[in-house]
Amino acid sequence: MEFSLRAEMVLNRKPEGLKLKEFIENSKTLLKKGAPEGQGAEIEEWELSGDRIVLTLTSGRYVRPHDAVFRIKNYLSQELGRKHKLGIREVRGKRYSIRFKLDHEPKRKIRVPFVKSIRIEGEECNLVLEDMDEEFLQKNYVDRIVNLVREKVEQQHYEGKGEHWELIWQSRPIEHRWNKDPSKVMEGRDWLKHRGRGQWIFGPQATAIMRAMEQLVVDELLNPLGFNEIIIPKAVTWDVWQRSGHAKNLYPEIYYICPPDTRDPEFWEEVIDRYKITGNVQTRLIKEKIKEPIGGVCYAQCPPFWPYLQGRTVSDDSLPIKVFDRSGTSMRYESGGIHGIERVDEFHRIEVIWAGYPEEVKRIHRDIVERYRKIFNDILEFEWRMAWVTPWFMAQEGLIGTAKDKEVGTIDFEAYLPYRGSREDSEWLEFQNASNNGDKYPKGFSVKGQKGELRSGCTGIGLERWLAVFIAQKGIEPENWPKQFRRRIGKLPDGIGFL
Ligand code: ATP
Ligand code: ZN
Ligand code: MG
Repeated sequence: MEFSLRAEMVLNRKPEGLKLKEFIENSKTLLKKGAPEGQGAEIEEWELSGDRIVLTLTSGRYVRPHDAVFRIKNYLSQELGRKHKLGIREVRGKRYSIRFKLDHEPKRKIRVPFVKSIRIEGEECNLVLEDMDEEFLQKNYVDRIVNLVREKVEQQHYEGKGEHWELIWQSRPIEHRWNKDPSKVMEGRDWLKHRGRGQWIFGPQATAIMRAMEQLVVDELLNPLGFNEIIIPKAVTWDVWQRSGHAKNLYPEIYYICPPDTRDPEFWEEVIDRYKITGNVQTRLIKEKIKEPIGGVCYAQCPPFWPYLQGRTVSDDSLPIKVFDRSGTSMRYESGGIHGIERVDEFHRIEVIWAGYPEEVKRIHRDIVERYRKIFNDILEFEWRMAWVTPWFMAQEGLIGTAKDKEVGTIDFEAYLPYRGSREDSEWLEFQNASNNGDKYPKGFSVKGQKGELRSGCTGIGLERWLAVFIAQKGIEPENWPKQFRRRIGKLPDGIGFL
């Protein structure tokens, strides 16, 4: 890597009668500190121009100029401030040129904010930045920009590959009752009603099935393994997603939450009056009267749980932590992807969360998977499989182990939906997952154990998806349903009849 920064230091006055040269020369040794022998930053040239010192700094990987310039600033401030009442008001970056080698040649042009120009020839990249303020230089924006360029190029190479998928286990094929689309059939019987935007009303019969499934999870998994129920907020603020990492990429799928500018009725008078006269809700006017989003509706239930532990050391008596939440819906903007109850914008999920020392976290993950096996094989009698999935870029970079070495990563549970076609060619439905999240949450929310670092895991049980799989494989007539589940659910409610 090669860095070259032209910067200026704005002084509080012209340094008349001062031999700056001596001080600048002395500061040079500071620019080598922490770097291997012969490396570090260099002052290529400098000059005094009125009340500012203009200088060009260069470096390789070590002591980059945006760091070096502050070493010089601090040194000069100390030396000149005390004796000569000369201060440095501000550091400005005029032009920054950064050359580095990419891992791959990009396939298309890339764009990055703040960058004046990006030139890429083969794997050689040259970035130019101009007019940077002190915050820009000091807060390491430059390193993040370089990383972002790399990330974008890598992304181009993994695009469309989705994720690395590795089969772990598969049940025997089952002969299914029928091959109908579960949402259509249930809608036909008024068990469900679609409300647009991927939202459904579940009538008494569908609700009874989902609640029986929930109870099944409580009886066969959560109670035996000692999980406690908690209630987690469903309005998630940015600070939470910044810590969980979701703030990096969630934007296209968020349902945003915007509070009103004020709750003063007068402020809303026009919106109210116009509605009373026209009968039309004044959405454009409303948009002008609300604040910027404070966050969004729950996407995954884990992140809004972690502020409960944030900044604390959990006592060993309380480890491992085992909790679950089923207190409200999650929302995702699925856009065109919506299909029946299998992919909805507002869904119901039991989220099971555990945290503890590394070994116990892995053990809980294994215990949970065993419990699921029993539930799906013996009680629901699903045709299903488990796959170890990792985003492609992570698999490639060796950031995540394979199925045999699953320290961090996710098992997807998938079920065959006969209405979609053959086992081999159709897409199976992911109806839940179980993840070892490593130290991501404890690190992100600064949570420790008495004896050291913690890890965590979670499993999300999507009730719409369980229902979809169940009806798709077992049909809609209760007398055909697996015996054990029928016993649990009892007689279905009659529901509401229509003329
Ligand atoms: P998909 O690939 O189907 O979009 P995902 O990878 O986005 O799923 P996760 O983020 O792993 O899903 O969410 C965990 C669980 O939440 C899923 O296994 C599923 O049960 C449920 N879920 C996620 N998105 C939806 C949705 N749009 N509708 C219904 N359930 C969902
Ligand atoms: Zn989770
Ligand atoms: Mg998704």
